[in-house]
Formats: sequence, C-alpha cells, structure tokens
Amino acid sequence: MSGRIKLLDWAEFPESFSKWKLNPTGAHLETTELSPGVYALISSIPGVDNAGFVVGERGVLVIDAHISVPMAKQIIERVREVTDKPIRYLVNSNYHADHTFGNCAFPAETLVVQHRRTAELVPYFEEERAFMMPCVDDDPAIFEGVTLRTPDIVFDNYIRFDLGGRVVECHYFGPANTPGDTITYVPEAKAAWTGNVTGGIFGLALETDAPTYMETLARFVRTLDVETLVPAHMPMVGAEYLGKYLLYFSEVTEGVRKAIGDGCSLEETLERVVQSETFSLPPEDPRAAVMTGRHQYNVRRTYLALKGE
Ligand SMILES: [Zn+2]
Repeated sequence: MSGRIKLLDWAEFPESFSKWKLNPTGAHLETTELSPGVYALISSIPGVDNAGFVVGERGVLVIDAHISVPMAKQIIERVREVTDKPIRYLVNSNYHADHTFGNCAFPAETLVVQHRRTAELVPYFEEERAFMMPCVDDDPAIFEGVTLRTPDIVFDNYIRFDLGGRVVECHYFGPANTPGDTITYVPEAKAAWTGNVTGGIFGLALETDAPTYMETLARFVRTLDVETLVPAHMPMVGAEYLGKYLLYFSEVTEGVRKAIGDGCSLEETLERVVQSETFSLPPEDPRAAVMTGRHQYNVRRTYLALKGE
C-alpha cells in the first residue's frame, strides 16, 4: 500500500451530527424470504445492521458479516435453519466495522468478497475499531474476539456468482456513502442489497459529496431492474427510493452551486441550503434533528468539494 489513506475522524464532524447507534446487544435477525432461496435478514433493533443470504444448489452467498462475532454467528445460524449447504461466499457492502467485523467468524472455506476500494480500507482495522467505539456505547466487549480478515476475492466493477441454478451479481457504481459501496443484486428476485447507499429519507454522503452520490445512483438506476431494496440500516423499501435520493442530491447540488456562485461562505451556505419540504420531517418527529444534522453534513461536504477544498 503506498501512503496512508485518511480515515474518518469524529473531530471533523459538525456538532449537529448524531453518531449512529449500532450496538447489536439483544438484536434478533428476522428471516424474510423474498423469492425462492433469497432471504433478507432484518434486525429487530432499528438502525442496527440488516444482512441477507442466497441459496443455490452448490452453496450459499451471504451479504454482510455484521459488527461482532455473536452477530456473525447469528447470521450463520439463520442460514443453517434453511440449508446445510456450504457458505461459499461472503460479500461486504463497505469497509465499516458493522459490515466487516463479523468476517472472522465465518469458516475458512468461505471466500470473502470486497470491492477494491473496500479492500484498501479494511486493513485499517485498529483505527476503524476506535472510530466505531462511540457507536456501540463505548463498550469494548462488543468487539471481543474480532480479528482482521482480509478478502479472498477483490473486484473492480462487476462480479457474478453462479450458486447453481441461482445467480448473484455484485456491482460497483461508484462511491456514495463510502469509497467502495457494493450493490449485491439477485436478478430473479429483482432485489438489491444496498448497504449504506440507502438509509433514511435521504442519503448520507459520508465520504463523498452530493454530485458524486447522484452520479452513482444514476448508474445504479440505469443498470439494474430493481423492485426491492434491502438497506443495511432501515427496513426494506421499494425502488422508488432511488428516485427520491436522486432528487434530494440534485437539490443539494443545485443549492450549493448557486450559493457558491453568489459568493456565500460555508456558514452562509448552510443557512441557505435547507431541506426542502419533501425531505423534512415534522419537528416533533424524533428523527428530525438527526436528519437535519445529516443534511448539514451533506451540504458541508458538497460545498468543500465544489470549492475544491
Ligand atoms: Zn453500515
């Protein structure tokens, strides 16, 4: 690896930003069959990671490994309730701890699949564990037994797995929430696991900016015929969410571009580019403040990117 990649640092987040609540203690993963052999695993605690798996004649592919050893074991348990076929592949939607820390609990025969940009970041294991600590209520016991497990298969744009009578595709449409966001798609179910790309009433450009997110979403919409989205951190939704997200990020891009054109500072831009009515929650909604913090984060990232800072 040439040169160190700069990871996320809470010190650089605005005060209005609420950290994610990812503590899996007490979470149950509920199995939902989307079509024959295609299963979503939905967490009983909202926001705590979902996952999934697909069963073919020759074996199983699992989508996301969860944040801890017990949660990864729970995924394996859910698979074993359905089939005793080997778990051949495990796809990580992105490099974050809540998608990759469970990798180490899967058997050696399971091949871990990551996008190249995810594979570059996963080795920063200690930094990621420290960064994620506040998201699990600063309880180091959550990460007990977790060791770094790097990928066996690294892909760039597209990879296809034939599980025997059932095909799973992994697509990379570009960075959105993280540099290596991977969309796992099952054509016969018209279902896609979207990781952190969809979450909440609009997306979070955590490591990108609004125009970049928009381009990635546009490629996604153009390429795949999707009916069901399985996001990592919210209940399953329909494909119309992608259109909503496109609209949101186009509003942010346009608003920030105009503000910069008018010579606005970052502070002035944040005041001016507020959520439109479509993407606002009523103030009494408990999620309203969280979403406003995320919106301001998106505006800030977009302002800095468009200014070339
Ligand atoms: Zn996540």
